[in-house]
Amino acid sequence: MTTNAAGKICPLCGGTKQPGKATFTAETGEGVVVIRNVPAEICDLCGEEWVSVKAAKELEAHVQSARQKHLPVEVVPF
Ligand SMILES: [Zn+2]
Repeated sequence: MTTNAAGKICPLCGGTKQPGKATFTAETGEGVVVIRNVPAEICDLCGEEWVSVKAAKELEAHVQSARQKHLPVEVVPF
């Protein structure tokens, strides 16, 4: 998953980004947090997922709160 979704063309491969939903996984130190239904633009060629800066900040907030719960696995909706 990569931040910054400016433009419709994937800068990695030249494919076209399509609006969709992505699943974001992060390490919390003691476990992992899985955040589902993240709005993203997904490249139709290489499959790279692009999220906005705003969405990336919200993801970071989810990871911070998951970290404080000390669970081995947490799955949350975006
Ligand atoms: Zn691509």
